[in-house]
Amino acid sequence: MITPSCQRVAESIASGEFYQAAGLRRIRLWLHWCVCYACRRYRKQIETIERGAAIAFKFERATEVREAFKKKLAARLQV
Ligand SMILES: [Zn+2]
Repeated sequence: MITPSCQRVAESIASGEFYQAAGLRRIRLWLHWCVCYACRRYRKQIETIERGAAIAFKFERATEVREAFKKKLAARLQV
């Protein structure tokens, strides 16, 4: 298949890989995103949640929310 599945694209959006992928992987993710209404809608929802969380937790940028939650989750999993 030329583009990844909706599930794979959704996972990459939620994990942040969607924004950091390079090369052919990046092209495939973005190509899917361009033609799939559901994934575009999902990305918009995730970005809205991140902006809301950034305001609620007083982060300067929405991207800091994801990193802060990852660190907090990793710390909790190590206990
Ligand atoms: Zn999709």
